Amino acid sequence: MESSSVDEDPYATDEDRDYNPSFHRSDTDTCTTCDALQNIVKRSTNQERVASSKVKLEYHQRRADKAVSCKLSDIKTYTPQSDSIVICFDLQQTLPTLLLTTSKTFYLRQPWTYNFCVHNLLTGAADMYSWDETVASRGSQEIGSCLVSYIKSLPPNVNKIVAYSDSCGGQNKNKYICKLFMFLVRDSAIKEIHHKLLEPGHIYMECDRDFGMVEKNKRKNP
Ligand SMILES: [Zn+2]
Repeated sequence: MESSSVDEDPYATDEDRDYNPSFHRSDTDTCTTCDALQNIVKRSTNQERVASSKVKLEYHQRRADKAVSCKLSDIKTYTPQSDSIVICFDLQQTLPTLLLTTSKTFYLRQPWTYNFCVHNLLTGAADMYSWDETVASRGSQEIGSCLVSYIKSLPPNVNKIVAYSDSCGGQNKNKYICKLFMFLVRDSAIKEIHHKLLEPGHIYMECDRDFGMVEKNKRKNP
């Protein structure tokens, strides 16, 4: 809206029209590893420690960049019609149930609802799996059950899965999920599963956008 008014303004200078938009990194929710290493690089007087922190920081940031480029490359490589699928999966922040605004509830232990999302990066479709803490917990077994349910629902021609997730040890990066994928490759139509873990502190997944929609609707319909 603002830009069209400048365009229509006969007195606007070239400088006014040169919007030169730029984006800066958010000052909140920064990466703990980056912050800790940058702090050493900036403030430490121990040159050996500074040099080693620089190397660690470079390595960490390269891994983060590599994960992003790898995901983009996978999305470009496959099409929704191919026999492969590219997904990311994540668990949403726990949802208090019911959503009460009474101040007293802040100090009380509320029941939680869990919501797990599998986002198809080729079609943009999101599948959600919800349960509450009276039904099950939110560990690797529950994540595994959701993944099995999702994989069983795939079209029969799909035989390769490329999956992205964070490196949460209790949920995604553990022997149970590894063994589950090995079992599926051995005993189902799936022939390959590539599970790729994003670098901690630099995780952006499309599931976050899906969770954003849940949060938005939650405010409207508590
Ligand atoms: Zn970082």
